Amino acid sequence: MHLKQTFPGVFIFLVSTLWASVAPAQWLNDEQAIMGTSVRVELWSDNKTEGRLVIAQVMAEMRRIDRLMSPFKADSALTKINNFAGSRPVKIGQELMNLIDKSLSISKKTKGAFDITFASAGFMYDFRQKKHPSKASLKQLLPSINYRHIQLNRSKQTIFFKDKNVKIDLGGIAKGYAVDLGIAILKKNNIQYGIVTAGGDSRILGDRKGRPWFVGIRDPRNRQGLVAKLPMRNEAISTSGDYERFFEENGVRYHHIISPKTGKSVGYMRSATVLGPDATTTDALSTSVFVLGARKGLNLINNMPKFEAVIIDNQGTMMYSNGFENLPPTDRSGAK
Ligand code: AMP
Ligand code: MG
Repeated sequence: MHLKQTFPGVFIFLVSTLWASVAPAQWLNDEQAIMGTSVRVELWSDNKTEGRLVIAQVMAEMRRIDRLMSPFKADSALTKINNFAGSRPVKIGQELMNLIDKSLSISKKTKGAFDITFASAGFMYDFRQKKHPSKASLKQLLPSINYRHIQLNRSKQTIFFKDKNVKIDLGGIAKGYAVDLGIAILKKNNIQYGIVTAGGDSRILGDRKGRPWFVGIRDPRNRQGLVAKLPMRNEAISTSGDYERFFEENGVRYHHIISPKTGKSVGYMRSATVLGPDATTTDALSTSVFVLGARKGLNLINNMPKFEAVIIDNQGTMMYSNGFENLPPTDRSGAK
């Protein structure tokens, strides 16, 4: 009786152990809507259960970043900063301190093209509701767009805005940062090959088992089309485009990348792609290059040895940074 009952259990245990040891290693993937965009993880794993757990950890990490940094969540740390830092120093954690500090250093490097205080006027845009600030409110809020208004106090762990109307938004850097955290989770779990993507920001760990990953650059005026496919290994890539969140009114395209000089959507570009070692930096730089425009943007990237850029201006002309000169033409175009 006793034997009869335990036998099936032991049998199932033995078969499943045997199966796990011979189960072929495989590519696993998952895609979820987080941070107002689509987050995708794909990795090669020797063990399906463990691989799935790693993917779940990455998704949980993305949700944590969203809870911390979303300007739309009433209880996020970022919302608290925007509500109070204009009137008194607000305590913030090490992580936000570091990312805001990194944003400020990119602001200096790009002569203010990247500026998280764009939100001082930027908060008045609502691309779903087709709303943009009036001329009068832009004029009133424009002086509050200036990263120099931000005061970080490292020893007291606080942030303070020298102008009471300042608001910040990390939308130009937070997705890349979250992607880097995702890759760190893959590494910690001994994954050798994988990709983590959040909207326009991706980072690749290793390669596609002996072959490069091919990452497409979207045609800014054709949702299904690609203008290039780039072979990549162990690298990050970010694209900023005027087609992600936008609406048109009286022939003007209002989209989510804002010139800190005018408080208006940048009109002279369609997309900017930046490649480099980490996604936090490529994310911030793709937004920066979009704002700087083709000439200044390429100049910036050509002076950064580990970074490359692909730019499409408002005429649809594609331009490449110097490091692409050695790429075979098939990798740049005709990959539709
Ligand atoms: P991305 O797609 O990475 O270029 O990010 C676009 C997001 O960056 C926007 O949705 C805004 O949240 C933010 N952003 C827009 N303009 C700027 C700017 N000039 N500097 C920094 N962040 C910006
Ligand atoms: Mg960006």
